Amino acid sequence: MHKILNYIDGTYREPIKGQWMDNYNPSLGVISGHIANSTSEDVQQAYEAAKKAFPSWSQTTLEARSAILLRIAQLIDKNLDRLAAAESEDNGKPLRLAKAVDIPRASANFRFFGHAITQFASEAHESIGLDTMNFTLRQPIGVVGCISPWNLPLYLFTWKVAPAIAAGNTVVAKPSEITPMTAFLLGEILTEAGLPKGVLNIIHGQGPSAGQAIVEHPGIKAISFTGGTKTGEHLARTAAPMFKKLSLELGGKNPNIIFADCNYDKMLEVTLRSSFANQGQICLCGSRIFVERAIYDKFKADFVTKVKAMTVGDPMTDVDLGAVVSEAHRNKIEGYIQIAKDEGAKVLCGGHRILVKGMEQGYYLAPTVIEVTDAQCRVNQEEIFGPVVTLMPFDSEEEVLEMANSVPYGLSATLWTSNLDRTMRMSKNIEAGIVWVNTWLNRDLRTPFGGVKASGVGREGGFEALRFFTEAKNICIKYEV
Ligand code: NAD
Repeated sequence: MHKILNYIDGTYREPIKGQWMDNYNPSLGVISGHIANSTSEDVQQAYEAAKKAFPSWSQTTLEARSAILLRIAQLIDKNLDRLAAAESEDNGKPLRLAKAVDIPRASANFRFFGHAITQFASEAHESIGLDTMNFTLRQPIGVVGCISPWNLPLYLFTWKVAPAIAAGNTVVAKPSEITPMTAFLLGEILTEAGLPKGVLNIIHGQGPSAGQAIVEHPGIKAISFTGGTKTGEHLARTAAPMFKKLSLELGGKNPNIIFADCNYDKMLEVTLRSSFANQGQICLCGSRIFVERAIYDKFKADFVTKVKAMTVGDPMTDVDLGAVVSEAHRNKIEGYIQIAKDEGAKVLCGGHRILVKGMEQGYYLAPTVIEVTDAQCRVNQEEIFGPVVTLMPFDSEEEVLEMANSVPYGLSATLWTSNLDRTMRMSKNIEAGIVWVNTWLNRDLRTPFGGVKASGVGREGGFEALRFFTEAKNICIKYEV
């Protein structure tokens, strides 16, 4: 049984109060180890380490900071197999996915921000006539907090901590208590890469205790959070009276809108992925599929045939879907499938558990397609965050736009069409932070990332992240010539 310890001031430490919690392996449905169940005392210790490290780290040259981030990236690459296996065991995702996406993107985060910080220029404005010169000084904030979810554990953890430290801040970070393993292993890599002690402190434990202590800490000046909308709302209420800078990346219920003039084969192949990648547990999954009526019946038949052929099983083998992340989460997803049936929707395929030989206690669900007739029904409005998509026909652009925008969320949208004018009309009018046209999950790290409405506040990614993790100060100098 492994023990997940905190990483504070460059060393692994047991939780001060000696409290532990269970770490589960979702593909086996068994306890695999124990996690530090940290309290505000551990957060305070991490904060003090971060505060002590700040003066020196914030004055470290950009080249030196950059070199360390690039070394961390290299070491993540070197440990690809070990980290991918740990991610897959902890989360239930197919090893293939962890190897091809999660871990490479984690190292890409350090590599990207290691380079980006050396290119992060500030603005200067000469006020002719007033004889003043203004320039914007971008200063690191100080000690910042980063809190991340379980669905893409190392990828989203590093998505926050890499720009935070690149910009010269020091960090108290907490990964999800459901998937702490890879953030724990990152500690060794940080030490080996030569990151000075206290620059990045990693606390493990529950949201309402350890997480809450980070958000409430008066010395932690900014919080970058990715997780559920309800948690984000709670965080915003907690942080607002302290005037903390907040970045909130929250839930989604994204439309996948398919027009008859699309490249059908490409669309079908990508729609399988955008529906069920990572067991549908990606905030960007296209969980509401709208299909133009002219191709609706054909799409329905082809899609259901392909979904039925998807393999579900031991994530360490070559399967399409592994296990969902926890028993509680499986129950929540099954609850939604029942709600759909109660609301009169039709389950076209899936909707049941899968028993995997030798792993009978694992949390496996069949990929599920639900045909709905009312865009307002609960399964079409609420985030399920599992291998479940809804399917519905539409007749016009206006109708599908209204249905697409009728949810509280606004994270991403996918469009399938070959019509350029329609692409522009739809893209402009869809309420979402990201619109993919004839593709899905294509990410260029320079682009802004985030949602509107209940999907969040603020943007991360590229220079947006470096802007979030710095304060802009206007300096105005009067000169005489
Ligand atoms: P969650 O909100 O339950 O937890 C996220 C993190 O917040 C965890 O580390 C948790 O311990 C912590 N937390 C919980 N309560 C807290 C509190 N009171 N104070 C401080 N921290 C607290 O979310 P989850 O179940 O881990 O993740 C799934 C959700 O994340 C989904 O809604 C999904 O859409 C969303 N998500 C969004 C994005 C995005 O970029 N917009 C990306 C991935 C996941």
